[in-house]
Amino acid sequence: MSEVVVVKFGGTSVKSIGRIQHVCEILSRLSKTNKVMAVISAMGDTTDYLLKLAKQCSAQPDKRELDSLLSTGEQISIALVAMTLRESGVKAKSLTGSQVGIFTETFHTRARIIDIKTESIDKAFAENDVLIVAGFQGVTDAGEITTLGRGGSDTTAVALAAAVKATECDIYTDVDGIYTADPNKIHNARLLKRISYGEVLEMARLGAQVLHPRSVELARQYGIKLRVRNTFKPEHAGTVIDGGGDMELFRTISGVAVDEDQASVAIMDVPDQPGIAGKVTQALADQNIPIDMIMQSFHPTIGHNSIAFTVSDSDLDQTIVILNALKEQLSAKEVLADPDSAKVSLIGAGLTGQPWIAARLFSTLGQNGINIKMITSSEMKITCVVARSQAHKASELIHAAFELHNEPGKTAGAQN
Ligand code: ASP
Ligand code: MG
Repeated sequence: MSEVVVVKFGGTSVKSIGRIQHVCEILSRLSKTNKVMAVISAMGDTTDYLLKLAKQCSAQPDKRELDSLLSTGEQISIALVAMTLRESGVKAKSLTGSQVGIFTETFHTRARIIDIKTESIDKAFAENDVLIVAGFQGVTDAGEITTLGRGGSDTTAVALAAAVKATECDIYTDVDGIYTADPNKIHNARLLKRISYGEVLEMARLGAQVLHPRSVELARQYGIKLRVRNTFKPEHAGTVIDGGGDMELFRTISGVAVDEDQASVAIMDVPDQPGIAGKVTQALADQNIPIDMIMQSFHPTIGHNSIAFTVSDSDLDQTIVILNALKEQLSAKEVLADPDSAKVSLIGAGLTGQPWIAARLFSTLGQNGINIKMITSSEMKITCVVARSQAHKASELIHAAFELHNEPGKTAGAQN
């Protein structure tokens, strides 16, 4: 059998029945030459709407029940897509996460995929040409419905591609591909023809609304070539994401990302002793709260440290509760939180070897009166926390200061 084609359509691509019909035309065309597996998101803003309903019932909705609720969004869209395809004579069938055999761990609302059992896929393909799979959801061994975290349909698609041994996965969305910055915010953002897994992973983690980070990790692990492309311009090549070859040697900076959904937190004056950082991070890990930009200050003479980090804004309340409980135990002075935080990051390859990059980045912000609240850096990124109201201005200034709108010169990165 020829390779199964795995594609994913995001929420904007199936926002209305008219759009679903358009998606079905693409699927029907693909099904003429291959078996097709299409992962679909919930229609438009359905997931946001469902979350809003939940918040009206409970300030901190029970996570198991939240997963039951949120998974219904995708159940609606897959059924509608399958019906539309069948109406036009295509042999299609919709499958929920549990029906398709996507097994996850039990962390409700951000479960990771553990295994995909392919028996039901093989069986469904015996009688159908197109399988329409609900993105973003799975099931635990105990039969509980889980979701994979917001934007998780990308991860469903790549995990399924790995399970059926596909070598490529096309992610259809409402933009032409991946840009040097958010094209809705920065008018001269440039479309990248090709980018490496590592860089796009940094972009996604740092707030660029490109792909669910775990989808990129999986693609890298299984060597699956991703292509981000526009549902409404299927003839455009989009952006290819792969190992990147030698491109990183020639092109240093690939883009700027903004994450406004951030909050900074600090636990002040904890004892300067072995084991303290472990206790703080373990307490958050026990609740599966991801933290980033972890920094510990250095006060060699007073026997105290402060540990600061960022969390996503939606995790802030729970983080404060956890840290306040620890405060007593560690005899820390206080817990500070700054909800007015956004991350602005420059992403590229080999950044630490080129000190002028950090210097130009910080000077650009400084000259424009933008205060930097926290900084971290690595080989592939430099991230600054700034006030949320200044984040987009900051990204615009950085994009201009590094001339990211210009194609790199012929010798400095032919692919882009
Ligand atoms: N519908 C889910 C969300 O909006 C999953 C997805 O679209 O990828 O986050
Ligand atoms: Mg989405």
